[in-house]
Amino acid sequence: MKALRTLPLATVLSLCALFLTLSCGSADRTSGDGTTNPDLPFTAIAPAIPLTSVPLQDYLVYSNALSSDYIDTLRSDLAVFDNWNGAMTGAEKATLQSLLGIQDATPSTLSMWFKERMKYIVANDLGLYKLGLVFGSQKQVGLQVLGSSSNTDPANTGGGNMGSAIYLTTLDEQKSRPELSYLILRINDEWVPVLSPRAGLMRVGPALFSNEFQINHTNIQALSNSLQRLEVLFHEARHSDGNRAANSVGFSHINCPNDGSVPAELVGVPACDDTVNGAYSVGAAVLKPLLHLCDAHCTAQEQTILRGIYLDRLSRVIPAANGTMKTLDPTPETGFNGIDISTFQAFNLR
Ligand SMILES: [Zn+2]
Repeated sequence: MKALRTLPLATVLSLCALFLTLSCGSADRTSGDGTTNPDLPFTAIAPAIPLTSVPLQDYLVYSNALSSDYIDTLRSDLAVFDNWNGAMTGAEKATLQSLLGIQDATPSTLSMWFKERMKYIVANDLGLYKLGLVFGSQKQVGLQVLGSSSNTDPANTGGGNMGSAIYLTTLDEQKSRPELSYLILRINDEWVPVLSPRAGLMRVGPALFSNEFQINHTNIQALSNSLQRLEVLFHEARHSDGNRAANSVGFSHINCPNDGSVPAELVGVPACDDTVNGAYSVGAAVLKPLLHLCDAHCTAQEQTILRGIYLDRLSRVIPAANGTMKTLDPTPETGFNGIDISTFQAFNLR
């Protein structure tokens, strides 16, 4: 079945596969003169910008490290969503409303839901980014270049929620280094503070764009290909949700069971959910009504493959042995308090 060709897109969407290799175990700084000047000055925390009705394609910030082809393609994908008339069945609307906690599922409310959770699109190669560790009490920021993650296969990487991954990594790091306040990431001409999983950082990988994983092989911006990527974008947006009190930060995946419900290649891979409202459910619920767009604009084969992807995502949602399924609390984590770091000293970590 052709739809299976896209499976590797999702096999690397797990948070754990994206955990950063922070090579900053030893804050190696020489006291006194070990300071440096950041090539981009640190700034005060900008006040939260109110969400607006600006089109999704213009709302997102695309990292300069992304190829212009990737950016053009993502913009055209988001334009499909921006121009969507929102036609959906009552059942599709009800599913979206219940899953996403919105009153009336329309392109506008779905767009707002997405904007609350995603803001920056960054490249797959994390080695391209500079990271800062903010030590508030010491008024210092330790700088380092992110190491490339070694536990992902770049060729198969579709996407990942970097905001949740960095936030969880920070919490972990704070256990051994309580003076660490939070991390900042340089994206274009901005130091982006990762104060919570809602920082809205999505990493996009080659599989989203490589011909091998496309549904339509002659036009990367074909509607069918855009719908496949939109499913991934909304899936990743769910990973910005959850809180520690409910043990739901990032809506992490579970390892797929060996019970015949998923293809053998996924068994033992964190590419399944044991929750009703996880990322696979969200991606599927958004894709389902968008498939109506395909009726007039996709070939029969493209429609078959997209329906296969929809069914595949549903098959990743695995009930417990007794047939029940958890619903996770999506209430966002409060996160760290932002600090005015504009006068902080920088030093290099290695
Ligand atoms: Zn995921």
